[in-house]
Amino acid sequence: MVMQQFEAESKRLLDLMINSIYSKREVFLRELISNASDAIDKMYYKALTDDSITFNQSDYYIKIDVDKEKRQLTITDTGIGMTKEELATNLGVIAKSGSLAFKNENEIKDGHDIIGQFGVGFYAAFMVADSVTVKSKAHGADQAYQWYSEGAEGYTIEPCDKETVGTTIILTIKENEEDEDYDQYLETYRLQSIIKKYSDFIRYPIKMEMSEQ
Ligand code: ADP
Ligand code: MG
Repeated sequence: MVMQQFEAESKRLLDLMINSIYSKREVFLRELISNASDAIDKMYYKALTDDSITFNQSDYYIKIDVDKEKRQLTITDTGIGMTKEELATNLGVIAKSGSLAFKNENEIKDGHDIIGQFGVGFYAAFMVADSVTVKSKAHGADQAYQWYSEGAEGYTIEPCDKETVGTTIILTIKENEEDEDYDQYLETYRLQSIIKKYSDFIRYPIKMEMSEQ
């Protein structure tokens, strides 16, 4: 498998991002949830003009799962998904917003619900994760693909198994450091309060099974 390099600008931008754009690490979750919401909105917009898509509200949601043992935090959405090419362009080129492009292509003028536009939010994941895996199956595609990256060095894309359309993002959360508590991002009550703080306005259900304390 060939490792794709981020573009030079992207590499510097990624370092900058991870270290300084965001004042608080916890906002990574807001960014991933807003992307998930955007992906569901895109299905909604497609359904408006495509009779073959029925938009049943109950089919569309965002789900958060925690596996403490594996240090994995997973964000799943039942949105529009990404093709192999979209994984490469939207996640491989920093400051490239597929959502902005979608709004332009579909002439969504107010675009009030689709949040994305700058093409940087996704990388906030690297503020809390050593590695990020994105498994995605695009609407209308037969094959799913998996994007994997450990940060500035680049990323790989390969076919993977995924039955349903949508995207699953798996973060391997960093080990605690002396002055940085990363374990908190594996605690459901903590995640719940971050969601309440930043993602209360999201129109789709955000499901999470609370672990006992
Ligand atoms: P922005 O949201 O500002 O466009 P991001 O860096 O957050 O920028 O995301 C980059 C792009 O990656 C998005 O515009 C979108 O095209 C794609 N993307 C990210 N997350 C998802 C997702 N869960 N489902 C589908 N596409 C996604
Ligand atoms: Mg975004």
